[in-house]
Amino acid sequence: MATAEENLTDWLRDAHAMEQQAKQMLEAQAGRIENYPDLKQRIEKHIDETEYQAEQLKQCLDRLGTDTSVIKDATGRFAAMGQAVGGMVTGDEVVKGGIASYAFEHFEIACYKSLIAAAQEVGDQQTERVCKEILGQEEAMASWLSEHLPETTHQFLQREQQPEATAKR
Ligand code: MG
Ligand code: FE
Repeated sequence: MATAEENLTDWLRDAHAMEQQAKQMLEAQAGRIENYPDLKQRIEKHIDETEYQAEQLKQCLDRLGTDTSVIKDATGRFAAMGQAVGGMVTGDEVVKGGIASYAFEHFEIACYKSLIAAAQEVGDQQTERVCKEILGQEEAMASWLSEHLPETTHQFLQREQQPEATAKR
């Protein structure tokens, strides 16, 4: 049986691995976008936020006495989702990527809601504060994607009809 502290530590480690994976996939996604400057800019902003999140989580783990250099293979668990978002090379990748990103942000939201509850259970106020701040960033990104996905889809469909335009990214 694991203690609440041990579970919290494991979940923080998972979250740290998730953010490292998120950074890679956001970078791959932003790097491919050519014709959707607002989307590209918002993703680039979220790359900065994601780096900050990974650093904050690392500090929580350090405080709890966990060495992040020995972080196991937790990253592998998110690899499939990362590929779904970042490695997209379909004819409609900007739309598929937008959908996958929206889903991924909600996965993150769920993780941080659970982590906040775990931190409260343990009485780790610093981790609770960090996770609440990160949750706010994930919710903002999810809202932005939600608001802009219809517009991205309209733009994609219109660009598809222009012989000179590249629609897919
Ligand atoms: Mg994140
Ligand atoms: Fe995120």
